[in-house]
Amino acid sequence: MERKTELIPLPFRQGQGGGTIREDFPILEKKIYKKYPLVYLDNGATTQKPRSVVDAMTYEYYNENANVHRGVHFLSQQATELHEASRETVRRFLNARSSREIVFTRGTTESINLVASCYGEEFMKEGDEVILSEMEHHSNIVSWQLLQARKGIRLRVIPITDEGELRLDEYEKLFSERTRIVSVTHVSNVLGTVNPMKEIIRIAHEHQVPVLVDGAQSTPHFAVDVQELDCDFFAFSGHKIYGPTGIGVLYGKETWLDRIPPYMGGGEMIQNVSFEKTTFNELPYKFEAGTPDYVATTGLAKALDYVTSIGMNTIEAYEQELTQYAIRRLNGIEGMHIFGPKENHDAVISFLVRQPGVDSSEGDFQHFIHHLDMGTLLDRLGIAVRTGHHCAEPLMRRLKVEGTVRVSLALYNTREEVDALVSAIERVRQMF
Ligand code: PMP
Repeated sequence: MERKTELIPLPFRQGQGGGTIREDFPILEKKIYKKYPLVYLDNGATTQKPRSVVDAMTYEYYNENANVHRGVHFLSQQATELHEASRETVRRFLNARSSREIVFTRGTTESINLVASCYGEEFMKEGDEVILSEMEHHSNIVSWQLLQARKGIRLRVIPITDEGELRLDEYEKLFSERTRIVSVTHVSNVLGTVNPMKEIIRIAHEHQVPVLVDGAQSTPHFAVDVQELDCDFFAFSGHKIYGPTGIGVLYGKETWLDRIPPYMGGGEMIQNVSFEKTTFNELPYKFEAGTPDYVATTGLAKALDYVTSIGMNTIEAYEQELTQYAIRRLNGIEGMHIFGPKENHDAVISFLVRQPGVDSSEGDFQHFIHHLDMGTLLDRLGIAVRTGHHCAEPLMRRLKVEGTVRVSLALYNTREEVDALVSAIERVRQMF
């Protein structure tokens, strides 16, 4: 009897390579320590790559490699067309109005630094303010601190509730006549909190303040529409959405990108150069100095094609179900403490587990198994999780922990892998 596709868990549905979706990712076949099947639950750090991404990049190097733009020869023109087609794929993926609004960068970090540096240069002076949140990744804190050191701007911080959600009431109070920009993460890479971005943007725009969205942890998990969000800038990384490392995107509304100065100087970003005066290239090239990683842009486009062919809504529905299953199973472990909100939880779960036989009051993590011990012992059983502060030290301080264990799920993860995680945690607990 034929099974209806929707009833087959996503990882086991038909993939692109003749087998299942899981089989599109060769690394998932790997045995760890030559013994345990890999259970890869560190997707928030980086995702694994499907064959279509790696194959397209290899093919390009072997068959189509030439530097892009300005070349008159066949290969260069072909490479340019491919590179610009990839930009169009990104535009479609984000539903940006124009491909002039899609700037290729090395990743979220570079995209945020670009905005902090260039927007900051043009529109911020001593005493002006940026609004961030308590759950930001270091890349969305330190970039602004560099500007602070240069220009004396001030950082205002939206606090979070004990549940790990932004305090919108406090957010509204942070606006002043010195507020110049809001820069907030779409999804927390620690708590899994999905922030009410449309509301955050609406409130900022009421104050005529633009918003930069850190989309590193949202783009892999649900559909993003920058026009619907009405954000002014949006940053994401290729490697977190099944694409290659070293490539990312900054979306910026044309009106803003036109008004801010270039980031780096060099080839590509100029129109005419003389020792007296240089004029800059049109968008988006004004922000793309030097030879771009045009092979990585092909890989990124293939990755976006891959998730689009499955459907972002299908991915979201599957991951939501898997996350809820994981939370339910993890909560069944004695002494389990999961951080973050009960609702609105993306595919990221941070936790600590109390040592057996000790009692501790709520919010006191003294007698909990150290995150590093847990991570190391889980690794011995073939389970890859992340431990530590997750590049969010201010948030760790707010949670009163030094670090957490973080499980982050992707479209290829299964219930069986969650079960393996739960059994492994139980085993680790018994060792204490
Ligand atoms: N922001 C968030 C929320 C992240 O999770 C990460 C990666 N952990 C980054 C920014 C930085 O991304 P990248 O290292 O790819 O630049």
